[in-house]
Amino acid sequence: MDGDAFFVACEVSKNPSLRGKPAVTGEERGIATAISYEAKALGVSRGMPIFQLKKNFPSVIILPGDYATYALYSQKMFDVVRRYTDTVEEYSIDECFADLTGWQKPLRMTYREILENIKKEIKEELDITVSIGLAPTKTLAKVASKWCKPDGLTIISKENSHEFLLKVPIYNVWGIGPSTSQFLMRHDIKTAHDLANKDKAWIEHFLSKPYFDIWQELNCLSVRAIDPEAKNSYASIQKTKTFHPPTKNIPFLLSELSKNVEAACLKARHYHLAAKRVHFFLKTQEFRYHAIEIPFLSPVNLPEIILPQIEKVFNKVYRSDRIYRTTGVTLRELISQRVTQPDLFGNSIKTDSLEMIHEQIDSLEEKFGRHVVHLASTQKSLNRKVKGTDSNDLDRDLLFL
Ligand SMILES: [Mg+2]
Repeated sequence: MDGDAFFVACEVSKNPSLRGKPAVTGEERGIATAISYEAKALGVSRGMPIFQLKKNFPSVIILPGDYATYALYSQKMFDVVRRYTDTVEEYSIDECFADLTGWQKPLRMTYREILENIKKEIKEELDITVSIGLAPTKTLAKVASKWCKPDGLTIISKENSHEFLLKVPIYNVWGIGPSTSQFLMRHDIKTAHDLANKDKAWIEHFLSKPYFDIWQELNCLSVRAIDPEAKNSYASIQKTKTFHPPTKNIPFLLSELSKNVEAACLKARHYHLAAKRVHFFLKTQEFRYHAIEIPFLSPVNLPEIILPQIEKVFNKVYRSDRIYRTTGVTLRELISQRVTQPDLFGNSIKTDSLEMIHEQIDSLEEKFGRHVVHLASTQKSLNRKVKGTDSNDLDRDLLFL
């Protein structure tokens, strides 16, 4: 199941006056993150820079992301699915896999009726639409859920699967990245159907295990289990803070960002997640966002690695003729961090010891509360808060890194 233009749909549900209008979310990121179908019809595409959008599509309404609300809608949407089966894997904030095998009898419904009910209940209770795909494997279900959007219901069976796969370009198959699709296309495999039709020996000779699994799944053999424990519902973690009075003071703004980064990283580590992209913004007194996104070679959740990168590009975002009221940091493309942080610019030893330090800090924070230990770069931001408030805050500043 996949939410249709999910972030925008949540905004419309919150504020029905937006219905039927071209709208996008992502103002705070500086790029369109979700696009209403009306905006799509105008030619707006995902990832389009906001400044370009304002220039070329002045009628499009631009909204800042409200991730707390999206997470709430997400949970409610998945709760509806859980009325019909316990086996639900939250794959992303607006996508889940669910295993319905065997539920027709106890529920006295056909599979199609179950899906129609899920769609109806989500529509009635949340006022958003979803697209659902039913298939014998996760890989095929993914094809089916994208097949007809919005508000789709597509069923792929063993008997008809080849009709669908003929129309799926190889680079759109779930789990096949750009370099693998290039390799496959060089071998004349252009569609999912071409790949499914290769013989086993060819697949085993040329491709590694994950692609063998994909090949099996395209051939209706389910090998990717649905994992109800997977907790990937945090599509991103955002920490923002508005301060008074607004300021243009660079050390203070950096210190606020430092606090945002520390808080976001703490949450990421708590859920064993690490981010492939980090985004930060400064919001002016006029409520304008100035933002930049930084990609990382390996997923990160340590502030000591993220902060120097933010400092490096800070001047691209900051303008001395503006006064700022809010800073914010978003960790994006979160992936679960089951093993240790991989090598980063050859700094694996440094990263390992930072991880050990953070394990200790995280347990101290659990015991004694937030900010009991923090980076020196966060100090300025905390000083401001401490002024005139309860002196306990001073006692908390036990140790600086
Ligand atoms: Mg979606």
